[in-house]
Amino acid sequence: MTVLSTKNQDDLVDNAKPSYFNLPPLDISLAFPQATPASIFPPCVSDYYQLDDLLTPEEQAIRMRVRECMEKEFAPIMTEYWEKAKFPFHVIPKIGALRIAGGTIKGYGCPGLSITGSCVAAAEVARVDASCSTFFLVHSSLAMLTIALCGSEGQKQKYLPSLAKLDCIACWALTEPDYGSDASSLKTTATKVEGGWILEGQKRWIGNSTFADLLVIFARNTSTNQINGYIVKKDAPGLTVTKMENKIGLRIVQNGDILFKKVFVPDEDRIPGVNSFQDTNKVLAVSRVSVAWQPIGLSMGIYDMCHRYLKERKQFGAPLASFQINQLKLVKMLGNVQAMILVGWRLCKLYENGKMTIGHASLGKSWITLKARETAALGRELLGGNGILADFHVAKAFCDLEPIYTFEGTYDINSLVTGREVTGFASFKPVASTQRSRL
Ligand SMILES: Cc1cc2nc3c(=O)[nH]c(=O)nc-3n(C[C@H](O)[C@H](O)[C@H](O)COP(=O)(O)OP(=O)(O)OC[C@H]3O[C@@H](n4cnc5c(N)ncnc54)[C@H](O)[C@@H]3O)c2cc1C
Repeated sequence: MTVLSTKNQDDLVDNAKPSYFNLPPLDISLAFPQATPASIFPPCVSDYYQLDDLLTPEEQAIRMRVRECMEKEFAPIMTEYWEKAKFPFHVIPKIGALRIAGGTIKGYGCPGLSITGSCVAAAEVARVDASCSTFFLVHSSLAMLTIALCGSEGQKQKYLPSLAKLDCIACWALTEPDYGSDASSLKTTATKVEGGWILEGQKRWIGNSTFADLLVIFARNTSTNQINGYIVKKDAPGLTVTKMENKIGLRIVQNGDILFKKVFVPDEDRIPGVNSFQDTNKVLAVSRVSVAWQPIGLSMGIYDMCHRYLKERKQFGAPLASFQINQLKLVKMLGNVQAMILVGWRLCKLYENGKMTIGHASLGKSWITLKARETAALGRELLGGNGILADFHVAKAFCDLEPIYTFEGTYDINSLVTGREVTGFASFKPVASTQRSRL
């Protein structure tokens, strides 16, 4: 694979030792006299209705394990990487050691968690850093899940164990430059040749693609005109990935434009269970449950940060927390977080009981991101000027929420998916009027 970028070399080096590790330790009280920054992450006070009571002891243990690791290992470094739009490759083994990759997948070296356990783990990652949770969910809930749900036995045995340990990283490529919300119309082609397939076309926005070892690709079979799935290796001749620059959110996630020029995929790497867009949709419906927990975790982190900040910073001789308007905003945020958690939890239970529909998943993802947006905006206000400084977490989370609102189906598209389910009418495609309108 060719990786193109103006900062190509920088992106590929093992930047395990960022520059500031070589500097003397920062005296945080001097750098941030007003309040404690997010590098020392605030305690979790956002779980007001005590979700733990609804979790099994195993789920509670995963939650605490992930929280502890994120606060200790990730919180001190993420702002710097976010600011530089770099990926902290040295943390990958730490995420692997949490034993959460592969989530609900049973066997093949995967943890076989309950969906609730898998989702609360994703939320704990997002509470501290949403880029990190996006990297993880693309790898685990999209790429690994596609192989687990649609792959052959041989593919599961070959790929899932190293993906579960994060020894091998995957990406998942559906979106194309001309087909975002309208992904089912995608134009990348797969043509059958002796011993395999030839892929031709383009993908856009693909998270992890600049360094992924395996690329799960969706392309249109030129014989059947249906969407099929393929596993492409990063060194496949004809594959080029260009890093997308200048994102204002999820800056640590490395999104790429992918170009396929006569890329050969052997027969053994065609994913046999992806035979139409409906098969892709099955993966997306499950993945949307996990994605819905990202804004939950993110909103919890925002609330936790605001709660500490308002108690630490004083104006007019009193803590910000003592002003009625600030308390009103804080409690509005707290109420949102409790409702979001309960909707996310119920979605997991519907899934576990085999009752979850595609419309349920879409409503969960769209409504939770909507409430998270309101929560992030209130949090940003509460921190005043520091609400636009990434060091105090809220500005970073505010920006990270924007792509989450948009990916895996925008708010609008997910609402229309639920709308179709509850009304029986699909309203995605406008019908051109044939009559001239009269005033
Ligand atoms: C940071 C980031 C990471 C991503 N990672 C991945 C990845 O790893 N893999 C992958 O395959 N894709 C990925 N995506 C792509 C993502 O899924 C798409 O951006 C998303 O589906 C929206 O498509 P679009 O950006 O082309 O917007 P468009 O489809 O161009 O939509 C623009 C606007 O029009 C609205 N709209 C479109 N159609 C309709 C309609 N019928 N009715 C009403 N409103 C409509 C939308 O809601 C939106 O507001 C990522 C995107 C981002 C931003």
